[in-house]
Amino acid sequence: MAKKTVDINKLDNNQKIRALFKIFKKHLPLHKPVKLIIRELAYDDGMCGWAGDGRKGFVISINKNLCYNCKIDTLIHEYAHAITMANQTYDPKEDHDKCWGEQFAVTYRCFLKHWPEYNDNKGPRLIERL
Ligand SMILES: [Zn+2]
Repeated sequence: MAKKTVDINKLDNNQKIRALFKIFKKHLPLHKPVKLIIRELAYDDGMCGWAGDGRKGFVISINKNLCYNCKIDTLIHEYAHAITMANQTYDPKEDHDKCWGEQFAVTYRCFLKHWPEYNDNKGPRLIERL
């Protein structure tokens, strides 16, 4: 049976961010839940934190006032933090250390592989419905 697909050209920008987030959760799964919130943030482009005391997983927040491409960059950045937090390689004294950088690369490559927006394809840009 053919997989159900979504043409991302038909989504608004925040729906695209949520669809990309689902792609990350599918292809780079964490062993705890991770949630995405797009909201007003006073000082940050994005944040990644523990939900409650950490047992409930992680919450990624993205500033709703960012431009679309900045939201993409921020989601990749924050998802890499969520991976290091889930793997317990997160270092609060140096949160953009080598472990984070490696996971940033992994997340960025997942984006390049699965997100069909930045190629020459003018037709439908299909992703799996997740
Ligand atoms: Zn960061």
